[in-house]
Amino acid sequence: MTARVLVVDDVELNVKLLEAKMASEYFEVISAFNGASALELAETDPPDIILLDVMMPRMDGFEVCRRLKANPRTTDIPVVMVTALSDVADRLRGLEVGADDFLTKPVNDIALFARVRSLVRLKRMMEELRLREEICGRFGAREGDDGPVDDAGAARILLLEERGFAASRIADTLAPVAAAVVRADSCADAVAQLNHDIELVIASLSMPDGDPLRLVSQWRATEAFRQLPILLLANEGELPQLAKGLDLGANDYLIRPVDRNELLARARTQIRRKRLQERLRANYRRSLSLALTDELTGLYNRRYVLAHLGELAARPGPGAGSTAVMMIDIDHFKSVNDCHGHPAGDEVLRQLAARALRGVRSVDLVARLGGEEFLVVMPETNLAAAVVVAERLRLAVAGEPFALHASGQKIPVTISVGVAVAAEGGGPVEDLLKSADDALYAAKNSGRNRVVSQSGSVVPAPVPRMPVAIAS
Ligand code: GH3
Ligand code: MG
Ligand code: MG
Repeated sequence: MTARVLVVDDVELNVKLLEAKMASEYFEVISAFNGASALELAETDPPDIILLDVMMPRMDGFEVCRRLKANPRTTDIPVVMVTALSDVADRLRGLEVGADDFLTKPVNDIALFARVRSLVRLKRMMEELRLREEICGRFGAREGDDGPVDDAGAARILLLEERGFAASRIADTLAPVAAAVVRADSCADAVAQLNHDIELVIASLSMPDGDPLRLVSQWRATEAFRQLPILLLANEGELPQLAKGLDLGANDYLIRPVDRNELLARARTQIRRKRLQERLRANYRRSLSLALTDELTGLYNRRYVLAHLGELAARPGPGAGSTAVMMIDIDHFKSVNDCHGHPAGDEVLRQLAARALRGVRSVDLVARLGGEEFLVVMPETNLAAAVVVAERLRLAVAGEPFALHASGQKIPVTISVGVAVAAEGGGPVEDLLKSADDALYAAKNSGRNRVVSQSGSVVPAPVPRMPVAIAS
C-alpha cells in the first residue's frame, strides 16, 4: 500500500527523520513546519494521513487538529498526534479535538507503519463508500441525507479478557457506550459468543487457549465480520504481535495499563465508524434498488431492462436459446385517467404489474418501460411459446375487470401486445425492441385487445368473413 503522508513538525530534524522512515517504506511524504502551512497543505494538496507534532510555537498540534476536523474538506483525513511524552492528559486532549491516534517520540517503527497502514486502509474504504453514494446520487435516486452519525450509545461489545478483574474494570469504563459487554474468557468462548449484534470486539492479545490474532484473521476472512471493529489490548512487550494484528486488519489498539478515558474514546470512535459504514452501505443498496426499479409498480425500470437485454444478447451462442420479448401497452389508458382520475390510473398500473408478474415464469423479467408501457423478457423462449404466454396474459387482463381498492369501482382494462424474438446469434437490442414495437403497433391498428407477433400472426385470429352466398 502506498499513501501520501503529511508530516508536520516545527523541528526540521524531526521532519527529516519521519520523512526518511516513511520514504523507506515507499510512502510519499510532504511536510510542513508550522500549523498554518499544515492547514493550507491539507486543503490544497490533501494527504491520506497527517502525522502531527503536538508542541509547536504559535499554533500547537491540538489547535491544528481541531481545525482540520472542523473543516468538512479535511475532516476525513486521519490525524496521528506525535507527542514528546506519553502524557495521559495530552492524549485525552488529542482525542477531544478528534485525533485518530498517538505516537510517542522517539517513534517506534512498527507502531508507526502499522498505524499509518491501518488508518489509510480505513480512509480508502470510506472514500469508496462515499463515491458510490455520490454516483447513486447522480442518478437522482438518493434519499435525503440521514444527518451526522454521532450516536455511539447502546452498543453490544464482545470483550476477550482472561482476567475477571480487568474485564469488569473495562466493562465499567464502557458503560456510557455499551448496552451490553459480553465477556469471553477464552478464544473458544469468543467464537461461540460472536454474533451479528456485536458492534465492537475488544481483544486481549494474551488468551489462555490460543492466539487471538488467529481469530482476527478468521473474522477478516469472513464476509459477515469483515467490517467488525476490533480493538486490541496489548502489553508494552507485545508490540510485534500488535503490529501483526493491525496488519491482519484490527482497527485500533491500547497499551496496558489502559487509560479509562482513552479506552472509552477509542471504543466510541470505532462504534461510530461502524455505524457510519453501515449507513453508507444501506444507502447504497437502497439507492441501487431505487435507481433500477420503478417506484410506482416496483418492477424493474427501463434502465435496468435495457442493460439486462444487453447482457442476454452478449451471452455466448450454442444452446443459449433465443430471447423473446413482449411489449405491452394498455388500451385507451388515457380514458381511465380521464374518467376515474390519475390515482385510479396509478392503481390500474400497479395491478397490471401484479397480473403480469403472476402470468409469467420466474425466470422471465417484467419491467415498466414508462407510462402505460411494459416489457416482459423471456429467456430461452421461441416465438410460438412467447405468443402463448402473451395471449394468456391478455386474457388474464381482459377476463377480469380491475377492482379499485379506494372506490370499489370495477374498471375493464385491455392490453395490446407485440411479441418478438431475438435474431439468430443475438443482434442489437434495439432491433429486437423495434420488432416488438412494430408488432404492438399492428395490434393497436388491428383493433386493440390483441397479441400480434413479429411474423404477423394475430391472436385471437380475426373472425373470417362469412362467405356470401351467391345466387346462381
Ligand atoms: P392507446 O390505446 O392508443 O395506447 O391509447 P392510450 O390512451 O392508452 O395511449 P396514450 O399514449 O394516448 O395515453 C397514455 C396515457 O397514460 C397518458 C398519460 O397521462 C397516462 N400515463 C402515463 N404515465 C402514467 C402514470 O404513471 N400514471 C397514470 N395514472 N397515468 C399515466
Ligand atoms: Mg396505451
Ligand atoms: Mg401509449
